[in-house]
This record gives sequence, C-alpha cells and structure tokens, in this order.
Amino acid sequence: MDTYRIDHPLVADRVQHFPESVIRDMSRVAAEHKAINLGQGFPDFDPPKEIMEAAKKAIDDGYNQYAVTWGAPQLRHAISSKLKAFNKIDTHPDQNIVVTCGATEAMMASLLATVDPGDEVVIFEPFYENFGPDAVVSGAKPVHVPLHEPEFQPDEELLKKAFHRGTKAVIVNTPGNPTGRVFTDPTLKLIADLCEENNALAVTDEIYEHMIYDGLHHTSIATLGDMHERTITICGFSKTYSVTGWRLAYTAAPKPITDAIKRVHDFLTVGAAHPLQIAAVAALELPSSYYDWLRDTYDKKRGILLSALEKAGFKCYRPNAAYYIMTDITDFGFEDDFAFAYWLTKEIGVTPVPGSSFFADKEKGKQMVRFAFPKKEETLNAAAERLAGTKEKAEARVKAEVA
Ligand code: PLP
Repeated sequence: MDTYRIDHPLVADRVQHFPESVIRDMSRVAAEHKAINLGQGFPDFDPPKEIMEAAKKAIDDGYNQYAVTWGAPQLRHAISSKLKAFNKIDTHPDQNIVVTCGATEAMMASLLATVDPGDEVVIFEPFYENFGPDAVVSGAKPVHVPLHEPEFQPDEELLKKAFHRGTKAVIVNTPGNPTGRVFTDPTLKLIADLCEENNALAVTDEIYEHMIYDGLHHTSIATLGDMHERTITICGFSKTYSVTGWRLAYTAAPKPITDAIKRVHDFLTVGAAHPLQIAAVAALELPSSYYDWLRDTYDKKRGILLSALEKAGFKCYRPNAAYYIMTDITDFGFEDDFAFAYWLTKEIGVTPVPGSSFFADKEKGKQMVRFAFPKKEETLNAAAERLAGTKEKAEARVKAEVA
C-alpha cells in the first residue's frame, strides 16, 4: 500500500491507498509512443449522427444552465421507459432515477450513499479498476470473491462464504469488465438469494448491457424475486452510444435509496451537463435496429482482434460480452504485466492494460494483459499487422537475455 504514498502532511489518508488509474495512464503511454491504443475502453469512431445533432441543437435551444440536479425531467422519463422495456424494471421518473456524471460517479455516489466505514462489500475479482478506489473512498471493507479463468464465474461455496448477516452490499458487474462474461441466470439467482438472506444491497453496473454475443442475454438482477427493493441498477450512455466523453449515466433504485444518492450527487457534482442530457433523450429514441447493429459490429471487431491476438501467440479468454479480451502472457517470458505492456507499446506499437490493475492481489494479474476492441476495423487491422511480430520479438528478447 505504501507504494502509493504521497509524502505530504496535508494529504488525507483516504487517498494513500490507491494510485491514479492504470487504465487511463496507459492512454498517456500509448500517445507518448504513438502506439495503437487498445488499452482504455473508448471508441475511435463517432457516436450516431442523430445524437451529435441533438447535442448541438440542445445548446442552440438554450439548455445551457443547471438542469434539475438529479436529471432533466424529459431524460428521466425516457430512462424510465427504457428501464421498463429493456431491463423489465419498474421505476417512477421522479422517485427512482438519478442521472449522474457517468457510471463512475454513479458507483461512487451509490456507495457513499449506502455504505458506512467498515461495512463489508463483496467484490468479484478481477474487477473493473474503479471498484477498488470506490471501496476505499467510501470506507467499505472489500471481501473479494475470485472469478477463475477461463469461465470467470464465481464458485458457489466461495460466494456463500463471503456473505453473512453483516454484509452490506455486493457489487455486480455483468456483462463484466475485464472478463467479458455475463453472469449466468443461476449465478444471479444465487447472488439475489444471498442478498435477501443477509439483508444486503446489490449495486449492479450494467453499462455493457447491449454488448452480448453468442446468443446470450442480459438479466438485470433487480428483476429477480424482490430484488428491486434492494438493488441499485447502474446503466450508462458512454459505451452504448459511443459517448464516453459526455459523462452520462443513471441509477435506478428504491425511493429512499434514490433520495440518499441524490444528496451525494447534488453536493459532489450538482448535475450532469444539461445539453447532453437532452441529447441523451434522442439516444434513447434510436430504433431497436441500432442495438442489433451495435452488437453485430462489436461481434465482428471481437473476431478481428481475437484472431490477431491468437496468431500473435497470446492465450485469449474468449469473451462473450462487453468489448475486452483478457489474455495470458506467460509464454512471452516477461517478469510481469507492466514490463510486457510497456514493451508491447514501445517495440510492437500496440498498448494493452496491465492485468494486475483488475486485482486487489496484484500477483494474480501479473501474467495477464487486457485489450479493448471498440475501434474502427482499420485500427484493429493495423494493430493485427503490428501484433503479428510479437512472438518472434519476444523470443529474440529472451534469447538475448540468456546470451
Ligand atoms: N463501469 C465499467 C464496468 C466500465 O468498464 C467503465 C469504463 O470502462 C465504466 C463503468 C465507466 O463508465 P462511465 O464512462 O459511464 O463513467
């Protein structure tokens, strides 16, 4: 933990236990070396034209001052309809929804609103990097449940062991980053039963809900049994509409919990960008064919990157959701994931994210790196060309070290 220490008496202890984001830092490293950035998960292509036009129009139409803090009413109404139609979750636009500055804020605000210092929160590992600092800042005591490759599903006994009457919450992320897995319906049912037995809350990050391949489907845990009474569902606009820079997402939760999230959100950010909230209504009005197109194009991109990585000698954990591929790099003979990620950036010209950033126990991710494929086909093809030389160059490096 001390490796993250900022040595200054005026810095609070709560920021001494995690570094700045490794994922986001790899974008800086990629830019520095002019490498193709397959690290951070953001598209290198434009969002749908309709919503870009709607954003420009919203500014011209005068939506330039604060919106209602917990979201512009027209957006909350559109979100409520979407939650009903797609997630099968009933909400009242005025009582159950908070529009936030991304799923990032939604998760932090949700934990700050519900978790007291010392409360145990179950977190599956590997996890999306943010969940670590989210736990530290909210004072949660994380209880990690491993997801073992290649399937990345939790073991029933270990999951049961992690819960007890003092468990405050579980963070669920399905479809998952970095695993690229959806939790099966029996797994979600088990989590739901454990929450109900132990009076725990489920905080569920579903921002990849529209990116599921191989005929699998998305289930929102809030729809199981009485889980709507104890679930905060987080969905976002960043990934589905390729607008990661707009910083828009939302929570759906029972009224008292929503009231608590509103308070944190209000004093943390006041609110999300008003004109972009208006444009997000246009996003939610896109026809269902948009989501089919999104899934099919990402499915194709998955194929391009998978085949490039496999040809280059990576052992890939084939994802069936989201837009990431976790890989095992043991065969390349590197000391750790950081050494490999920097080498790949400099020598091959492609940047991944070191796998240890998804683990609390860094040892577990030391021989893994994650690649992201929300990129134009031409970008992925260019990356494939560069990656083709990986195995030979890595072998040459090992030979040079031995000599
Ligand atoms: N949650 C998960 C699981 C993610 O993978 C990401 C981004 O990579 C985020 C949240 C961030 O979402 P947002 O851009 O809405 O803050």
